[in-house]
Amino acid sequence: MSRTILITGGSRGIGRATAIMAGERGWSVGVNYAGNEKAAQDTVDAVQKAGGRAIAIRGDVSREADVIAMFEAAEKAFGKLDGVVNNAGIVGEKQAFVDYSFERMKRIFDINVLGAYLVAREAARRMATSRGGRGGSIVNVSSVAPRLGAPGEYVDYAGSKGAMDAMTLGLARELAKDGIRVNAVRPGLIDTEIHASGGQPDRAERLGALTPMGRAGTAEEVAAAIVWLLEDSCAYMTAALIDISGGR
Ligand code: NAP
Repeated sequence: MSRTILITGGSRGIGRATAIMAGERGWSVGVNYAGNEKAAQDTVDAVQKAGGRAIAIRGDVSREADVIAMFEAAEKAFGKLDGVVNNAGIVGEKQAFVDYSFERMKRIFDINVLGAYLVAREAARRMATSRGGRGGSIVNVSSVAPRLGAPGEYVDYAGSKGAMDAMTLGLARELAKDGIRVNAVRPGLIDTEIHASGGQPDRAERLGALTPMGRAGTAEEVAAAIVWLLEDSCAYMTAALIDISGGR
């Protein structure tokens, strides 16, 4: 069955891989991005080449007006949404907790927590059957960090993803009768550019080698689970937190 979805941070990494897999299924995809227009356009082209429809939608998830506008743009292009992938997220530089600046922590919580909550709220407002929506699936892209704590690297990031896990559980139970399923995937060390953005370009390869599987994961290995959670084949699954971490 065809789907209309919005992916925040859909231009690169896990979001991009998800967009392309959705395209392979013939779905319509709103590809949100923060600022890298070229990457977003590349992803849109790749989705279309794969057989789907796509548009690039610029917007910062930590800004309420941008979030509302990105949902409006996706619905204007493709009609009512069936699924939202709450994927945009950032890390800070590897740092000891005592050295964190207020600005660093605020940025992480603004994007990873407030941003994710705003996106989930907007998704719920539009997809809830009691509000005229047709139900749907919200997939939160969390992390294994809440259960590991990310000591010496980014404890603030781990906390932000813990807030996402709590939101997943609460929202899933609140929205179950509204036809909306809410689940989270919790990736481990995945080979994307996020590690370079935190000043550790070799992090996935270096630490991936220490995991039980002995390697980092790929964005596609996470995207496969996200796409499955968007489909009807797992219609009885909600309030699940799924680790994709090679056993880490
Ligand atoms: P990535 O390669 O760095 O890509 C990040 C994406 O998010 C880009 O499309 C970027 O857009 C977008 N973005 C960043 N800030 C944004 C904002 N304020 N508003 C809207 N979009 C924004 O990251 P990734 O590794 O794919 O990570 C995706 C998600 O998976 C994140 O939530 C991350 O925490 C989570 N995760 C990743 C790993 C991992 O090892 N990679 C592990 C666990 C969890 P631009 O291109 O415009 O910058």
